[in-house]
Amino acid sequence: MSGNGTTGELYLDAASTEPVSRTVIEAMMPFLTEAYANPLSVHQPGKTAARALDAARASLAADLGARPDDVIFTSGGTESDNLAVKGIGMARMRMLRDKYGESVKPRIIVSAIEHPAVLQSAAWMERWFGVEVVRIPVDEQAHIDTEALERALAQGDIDDGERESAGHGSVLTPTNRTLLVSVMLANNEVGTIEPVDGIARIAHAHGVPVHVDAVQAAGQIPIRMRDWDVDALSISGHKFGTPKGLGALLLRGRTPVEPVLSGGGQERGLRSGTQNVAGAVALAIALHESNERMAGQYRALAESRDRLMDAVLRVEPRAQVTGDPERRLPGHASFVFPGLAGEALLVDLDARGIACSSGSACALGRHEVPATLLAMGFTQPVAKSALRMTFRTPLTPEQINRVAAAVEESCHSLTHTSAAPL
Ligand code: PLP
Repeated sequence: MSGNGTTGELYLDAASTEPVSRTVIEAMMPFLTEAYANPLSVHQPGKTAARALDAARASLAADLGARPDDVIFTSGGTESDNLAVKGIGMARMRMLRDKYGESVKPRIIVSAIEHPAVLQSAAWMERWFGVEVVRIPVDEQAHIDTEALERALAQGDIDDGERESAGHGSVLTPTNRTLLVSVMLANNEVGTIEPVDGIARIAHAHGVPVHVDAVQAAGQIPIRMRDWDVDALSISGHKFGTPKGLGALLLRGRTPVEPVLSGGGQERGLRSGTQNVAGAVALAIALHESNERMAGQYRALAESRDRLMDAVLRVEPRAQVTGDPERRLPGHASFVFPGLAGEALLVDLDARGIACSSGSACALGRHEVPATLLAMGFTQPVAKSALRMTFRTPLTPEQINRVAAAVEESCHSLTHTSAAPL
C-alpha cells in the first residue's frame, strides 16, 4: 500500500487487485530464467520443473484444506468459475440425459449475488443448452437464503427413494435435475461471509455438487475445502499477491466435469496448455504468505476495519454500512451514501488521495449499479452510492483519520454541488 502516512495516495482497493510481493517475485525468478523447462518434458530440466509444480500443488492444497490431486492450475478466477459452472454443468447434464432422456429440464442454482464469471457462465448454459438458472435470494445483509435453497433443491428432486439410498455419493448418479449449486464464500461488494459448509450439506442431501467461488476469501480467511465437503473451489492469485492471470480450481476427483479447454491433456486432462511453473510457484508462495500474515494480524485488521466504519459513520450521518457488520472479511469496509452519486464520490476521494471503489471491481470502466446491493433490497439510486474500502494490513489511526476527513469533505462538497446529489 502506498501513502501509508498522511500524504501520498492511500490504496484502499485491495479486493480489486494487490501488488506482487518481493518474496513472490524472487521465488518465481529461477523458473523464468534457469529452470524454465516444460514440466512434461522427460529430460532432467523438465523433471526439475515438474518437481517444482508438484511442490506448488502440494503447498496450495495444504493451505486450502484440499489434496494435491484436487488442484487444477488456471489463468485466474474467471477461468476457474467458467470451468466449474460449464464443466460440471455439462458433465452432469450428460449423466442426467443418459438416465432420464430429454424429459427433465436441467437447472443450475446460483445465489443472486454471484460474480459475473459465475452468473454469465450459468447464462451461457441457459443460452446453449436450455438450462434453467435459479437465483437464490439474499437478505439485507447479503446472507444467502438457505431455506429458499432447500426449497429450490427439493423442487428438483426426481426420484426420492433412490436419492435417499444413494445418499452423498449420488453426485455421480443424478437424482435431482440440478446440475450444480454455485455460491461464493465472501462477497466482493459487501464482504459478507457465507456458510458454505451448511450449503454443501443441504445440496449433498439432494445429491447435487457444490462449487464455491472463494476468490475474495482466499488469503483473507481460513479455507478448509474438504472439511467443508465442498466439491469445487475457485481462487485467483492477484487477490493475494501474485501477478495477474493466475488461479486454480480445486476439484475433488469424484466430481464429474467436462474440460472447457481441449488440447494436450495437462492438469488431469481438465485444463490443457503448457503449465506455468513460475505462476504455480507464485500462487503457492503468495497464498502461504497471505495465510501466515492473516493468522498474525486478523484481529488488528478487523479492529481497524471497525474503527474505519465507525469513523465514516461519525463524519457522514447519511452513510450506512452494507453487508454483515461482523461476519465479513477482516479488511473490507463498505457503505452506501443515500443522496449522493457513488461515482462522483469515488472521483472526488481519488482527487483527495484516497483510492477506493464501488465494489463491482470487475466491471471496470463502466460504473454499473452494484448488483449485490440491488439483490439486498437497496433501491437503484442508493445502490449507486456504494463505496468499498479494502486493505490487507491494519490501517493506522492516522490513516483512518485521513480517510474520514476526506469522506467528510467529499460528501460536503458534493452535497453543495448542484450536479452531484441525486
Ligand atoms: N469471483 C469473484 C468473487 C471476484 O471478485 C473476481 C474478481 O474480482 C473474480 C471471480 C474474477 O477473478 P479474476 O480477476 O482472477 O478473473
